Amino acid sequence: MHAFNAHYIAGHWVPAKSKETFLVHDSSTEEVMASVPAGTAEETAVAIMAARAAFDGWAGLPAQTRADYLDKIATGLKARTDEVATAIAREVGMPLKLARSVQVGGPVWNWANFAKVTRAFEWEERVGNSLVVREPIGVVGCITPWNFPLNQITLKVAAALGAGCTVVLKPSEIAPVNAMLLAEIIHEAGLPPGVFNLVNGAGPVVGEVLASHPEVDMVSFTGSTRAGKRVGELASQSVKKVALELGGKSASIILDDADFEAAVKGTLSACLLNSGQTCSAHTRMLVPEHRLAEVKALAQAAIAKYNIGPSLEETSRLGPLVSAAQRDRVLGLIEQGIKEGAEVIAGGAARPSFDKGYFVQPTILRVQPGDTLAREEIFGPVLVIITYRDEDEAVRIANNTIYGLGGGVWSKDEARAVAVARRVRTGQVDINGAPFNSNAPFGGYKQSGIGRENGKYGFEEFLEYKAIQFKPS
Ligand code: NAD
Repeated sequence: MHAFNAHYIAGHWVPAKSKETFLVHDSSTEEVMASVPAGTAEETAVAIMAARAAFDGWAGLPAQTRADYLDKIATGLKARTDEVATAIAREVGMPLKLARSVQVGGPVWNWANFAKVTRAFEWEERVGNSLVVREPIGVVGCITPWNFPLNQITLKVAAALGAGCTVVLKPSEIAPVNAMLLAEIIHEAGLPPGVFNLVNGAGPVVGEVLASHPEVDMVSFTGSTRAGKRVGELASQSVKKVALELGGKSASIILDDADFEAAVKGTLSACLLNSGQTCSAHTRMLVPEHRLAEVKALAQAAIAKYNIGPSLEETSRLGPLVSAAQRDRVLGLIEQGIKEGAEVIAGGAARPSFDKGYFVQPTILRVQPGDTLAREEIFGPVLVIITYRDEDEAVRIANNTIYGLGGGVWSKDEARAVAVARRVRTGQVDINGAPFNSNAPFGGYKQSGIGRENGKYGFEEFLEYKAIQFKPS
């Protein structure tokens, strides 16, 4: 058990004022693996003022110099891959091998990629009698969740730093260990004091100060739609820019000419990554009504291959959920679905036979479009199957949600799949299980959010425009 007892402010580890802490649990063993201090409003304000004081100097550095710092952080993180991956495998519950590539390999790549984006960026252009320049927006408050904790931090912090902003980060209180390790790496990279600050603590305390403080120019939030709305309300009082990456209920549409075996397997894998605790998980599988029996059989065969187990065990393909609260919420939703008439195709609400750990069986249910489980984000290893009669109905069902984050279309006819993809109101659509592209914009339509992350699209979120006019001679 590692008791962290300081916040990172103005280039130093500053002892926490409050004795109150958040305990971090190993999701597979339920042991307390670490604790972090609960930051206060005053400590958050001190960190914000440190970021404000550092802003002019950092923004004034050549982009190349900032990019060099990002590369140093990428190298430092890569060198500590095993330690950080183990921490995340324990605090989040993702199997270690996957955590190494997804939860640490992804961030290493993104830190280095934001260095490239920073170097390649065109900072100004002439438009008529104007010079249009891009400038960093200022002090950014970053509030992040627990599911892909280090990557969500990286998509904000690396992009903001490259753009010339200074940052105060409040990581998730449920999985904060990776963030503390990152802060050590950033410290070793020698960033000027105040450019990066980290205050741990509760959303309604530290998070709300970041969202409302007048010296914060932008707040970038990833998390639940509920908390995102609150952040937006508070931020509006000082008219700060708000970027929100929120929940999802993404649909995988299997068209009647698809390769059904690949489509069912691919959808299940896009649903179950990180035990379904992924905002862009493909959690609704839309299938032609007359092919339902075949889909059920394929889905049962595919899900049987997901071996669940503790995250540090080599044979585990699916780990536990992050916390007891998350497990109970997911089990409650499965029970509610069954009460509403869902047909259980695999799994269910019975607890798997582990002595410890927040495990839930991977589950497949057939539901009707209006049911709770067809509408609510579950954030667990649960796929729902919904049938449709024709392509128009499939698109209608896919779009019948408050969310609009991701999705997929499966067809042997790529042009047909793309035509359907264009009708789906979401920020991303994958054709036939196409891989994630970390340079493509990621973000939501509707209540899935505001703004985009990843690559140059994510970078530009942290910039203002300025137009300087010349008098025509
Ligand atoms: P959450 O909203 O409870 O917490 C996210 C962060 O917000 C945490 O740091 C938390 O402390 C903070 N927070 C909570 N209340 C706050 C408040 N009133 N003011 C300011 N900050 C506050 O979400 P979570 O449980 O950590 O994450 C799961 C949710 O995040 C899911 O709904 C998921 O879909 C969403 N998510 C979205 C994306 C995306 O990119 N769209 C990525 C990951 C997770």
